[in-house]
Amino acid sequence: MTFENENTLHKFMVSKGEEAFHSRYEEAIENIKSEFGRRYTMIIDDKNVESSSETFVHTSPIDTRIVLAYFPSGTAKHTEDAIKAAKKAFESWSKTDYNKRIEVCRNAVDIMIRRKFELAAWISYENGKNRYEAIGDVDEAIDFIRYYFEEMEKNNGFIIQTKSAYPNEKSKSVMKPYGVWGVISPFNFPIAILVGMSIGALITGNTIVLKPSSDTPIIGYKFAEIMKEAGLPAGVLNFITGSGSIIGKAIVDSKDVAGIVFTGSREIGYRITKDFSKVKPRQVIAELGGKNPVIVTENADLDKAIEGILKAAFGYSGQKCSACSRVYIQKSIKEKFVKKLVERTKNLSIGNPLESDNFMGPLINSNAYKNYQKYSEVAFRDGNVVIGGSTKKDGDFKYGYYVEPTIVDNLPKNHRLFREELFMPILCVADYDEFDEVLGLCNQSHYGLTAGIYSNRKQEVKMFLDNIEAGVVYVNRDISATTGAMVGCQSFGGWKDSGTTGKGAGGPYYLTQFMREQSQTCVV
Ligand code: NAP
Repeated sequence: MTFENENTLHKFMVSKGEEAFHSRYEEAIENIKSEFGRRYTMIIDDKNVESSSETFVHTSPIDTRIVLAYFPSGTAKHTEDAIKAAKKAFESWSKTDYNKRIEVCRNAVDIMIRRKFELAAWISYENGKNRYEAIGDVDEAIDFIRYYFEEMEKNNGFIIQTKSAYPNEKSKSVMKPYGVWGVISPFNFPIAILVGMSIGALITGNTIVLKPSSDTPIIGYKFAEIMKEAGLPAGVLNFITGSGSIIGKAIVDSKDVAGIVFTGSREIGYRITKDFSKVKPRQVIAELGGKNPVIVTENADLDKAIEGILKAAFGYSGQKCSACSRVYIQKSIKEKFVKKLVERTKNLSIGNPLESDNFMGPLINSNAYKNYQKYSEVAFRDGNVVIGGSTKKDGDFKYGYYVEPTIVDNLPKNHRLFREELFMPILCVADYDEFDEVLGLCNQSHYGLTAGIYSNRKQEVKMFLDNIEAGVVYVNRDISATTGAMVGCQSFGGWKDSGTTGKGAGGPYYLTQFMREQSQTCVV
């Protein structure tokens, strides 16, 4: 048993099958069209549940004329029903042999591998990811499932024989699930993060009430369907759609929920953490935002740094928690570096992400689009916008949420654009003199998710690794300065305001958070 990442595109490239990769994706794009406009349900205790009140319309950010689906606006009552079903199912699922739970997960992996292009096509339509990002999202979901079931196997279900206190005693430590978990996920990794959090809870014997982002509910529904096909018993996974504030509040307020696993903004994550402990102290695993810095020193390989920064700052239009949003460049090379960075940014293609040539697709929704305009105005007012700053409205662009990649220079180093998570393709750049100073600039953020450095001096790299306050850090990486963590290789979790647990997803300490230890001693 050796964990292997799915890494679909890489495998197609190694086997010189890039054309097959493209044709499978394009075929999937055509195939799913027949499902557009479908009315979906919630799934509670294995039953399809409509909303007695309202539905919401789900359109594509690529072109808002495309109606992808209608989903029920779930209520507090639906959430309570789902929690009740999960509580009932916990009785048997928690006692199900962990090998049986692994078997269900193994089946789910097989199904997802079979359907990976279809799932990627849905992601592109739902959240505007290009084909490479979309397949990467599905790959990561598969990786999470595989990694977590292998962790269960490797650790024998987290049952450990301990020392005997007396000769007539036998003792062991047994990790057991807590109960019902609320799983609340974001739009930007609609399958990877949703699946990772869900499987973390499920494989350890908990049952769940799963709420996807309202921007990406289809892929969540498909996952619920897959888990059923894989053999998950009724009531173990309950799927609810609708407003985060209504469903989230009902989950937080319920005394029958043992834990919440959340990935999203700091604002909502902190509110959940605070409110959830009002009833009684309970488990919260929250992965939150970032304001991720990159340092470029005068002895760095500048071409490598530019490639890495472009991918990290503008990949998926900057809508990644790990996106690079601030770059600090040593004064002696700053002018030259920014000039080159701007030249390369000019060549990034923006457009319909379904077309293979386009690097940057649209922003997720009208709110993000309005925020881009608001932040661009601030950038023009207080700094020097060296490229970008405008929305794209010509031709078909006007039907989606397309914007330009933007670089802002000459802002005060404590300006709000250097401090706030914007979650869009706006990159702030500044210079620095001394290495100590730049480490201070990086660490002055409240966030601490990812960080990168480009330097060929060992001493600088060591100082960076010794002092940087972030959960995921990279040195001289051209495939991306701050993004692109792989399950099982780079555990992914934030420090400071970027997360509440200090233990990364896809890493060795993740699963134990969903369990509590029981020490069992029998006199023999
Ligand atoms: P968000 O606005 O915080 O929403 C996340 C989820 O919370 C959605 O399902 C949302 O539902 C729900 N929600 C909204 N209000 C709620 C409430 N009052 N109570 C409970 N749940 C509520 O985040 P997003 O815009 O989807 O995602 C972007 C954010 O996620 C960024 O801050 C990014 O950095 C962070 N993120 C972090 C990581 C990480 O690993 N650290 C990874 C990915 C993303 P609705 O959709 O219905 O509003």
